[in-house]
Amino acid sequence: MSVLSNHMPTAELQALDAAHHMHPFTTNDELAEKGARIITRAKGVFLTDSEGNEILDAMAGLWCVNIGYGRPEMAEVAARQMMELPYYNTFFMTTHVPAIALAQEIAKLAPEGLNHVFFAGSGSEANDTNIRMVRTYWAEKGKPAKSHIISRKNAYHGSSVGSGSLGGMAYMHAQGGLPIPGIHHINQPDWWAEGGDMTPEEFGLARAEELEAKILELGEDNVAAFIAEPIQGAGGVVIPPQTYWPEIQRICDAYEILLIADEVICGFGRTGNWFGSQTMGIRPHIMTIAKGLSSGYQPIGGSIVCDEVAQVIGATEFNHGYTYSGHPVAAAVALENLRILQEEKLVDRVRDVGGPALKAGLESLNDHPLVGGISIKGMMASIPLTPHKESRAKFATDAGTVGYMCRERCFANNLVMRHVGDRMIISPPLVIELDEIDLLISRAKKALDETYAQLKDQDLL
Ligand code: PMP
Repeated sequence: MSVLSNHMPTAELQALDAAHHMHPFTTNDELAEKGARIITRAKGVFLTDSEGNEILDAMAGLWCVNIGYGRPEMAEVAARQMMELPYYNTFFMTTHVPAIALAQEIAKLAPEGLNHVFFAGSGSEANDTNIRMVRTYWAEKGKPAKSHIISRKNAYHGSSVGSGSLGGMAYMHAQGGLPIPGIHHINQPDWWAEGGDMTPEEFGLARAEELEAKILELGEDNVAAFIAEPIQGAGGVVIPPQTYWPEIQRICDAYEILLIADEVICGFGRTGNWFGSQTMGIRPHIMTIAKGLSSGYQPIGGSIVCDEVAQVIGATEFNHGYTYSGHPVAAAVALENLRILQEEKLVDRVRDVGGPALKAGLESLNDHPLVGGISIKGMMASIPLTPHKESRAKFATDAGTVGYMCRERCFANNLVMRHVGDRMIISPPLVIELDEIDLLISRAKKALDETYAQLKDQDLL
């Protein structure tokens, strides 16, 4: 067996990686040519790579490392649980304390009436559960035709066949035969990109009303559920205008449509409340969770289910589940994560300290010639780039060219910021300190300046 280590030359590890490892959402030939960046360790909000660079991770991994990297308590809990009970399943009338304790704690933190948890290994799996659960719910209620699910374009709900179909990413649907039948996508409430001359309020209402139109088109007796992220994450941190969610809630109530809030990113403090549904003032029947549930220290996700749906599902055998549903080590680690979030009052900290500081810092970039106005809620933010702020114009280059350029300049300045098209997105660990926010902003500014200079050089402005 080969023994690799962080001390091996970067090029050697890159060559082996390219030879054997297929990466998600990557053109692997391009990666083989350029060589992947190798992350060797991490602490707090900083990653270290194989060249010794200290990189500020303004994305918390993939929006998940809420409590920051390198928490010894998490490792201790995992080791203890592995010694005591490394695995047992929760099928066939069995259970174990980590799954019980985690479900109880989640029910305590979730909004009123959401008291039941079905565990999964990831957000994608949890959304697959949701598809089957809402359809089973209506079938058990004697309305099997209520099976269609409405989602939105540019939503992200995962990468499995089911969850990828729920998502509204055209480039994902272009591969592998997605979406599966019975899933419909309405337009998203992205005022910045699609609002034209409407006010945000008018636009929010217009986009919400598309849900009503779609329900009427499909027939209310055929629609099971509407699924949405309270704030779209992977779609570019799209914070809907304030008119949007109240209207969606009204429509779901009026037509007896189950509302599924995908809280995979928004959950566990990201928006300054425990759940994005609280921040946006909605009352979902089911919430999808993952990521911040364990701060990414173990793979775990789930569906938090309201009493009514759980009661109906509970009356029949729900023929669904995963080998790792409620995995004891993942559950114990998630529980420790929830303890840390509560003990360190990290959700309050996002609302009262970190979020406002990040907002002030990002708003200081508003006069930058490329910045088209900051959107931020809690610790979830986007910086749309534009050649012309007032008209929110797009660049003449292919969409995403400038965003990619800026992301590369961020990397070069030891900052991880992602780009979605020409929009930069930010979602740091919730523990980020004020001086680290200053550092984030100064590196972001430098990256923006360099992007601007590069665009000028190449006559792209
Ligand atoms: N839902 C949302 C809102 C997400 O952001 C993601 C992941 N980015 C998922 C679901 C899928 O989660 P996973 O990658 O854990 O399957």
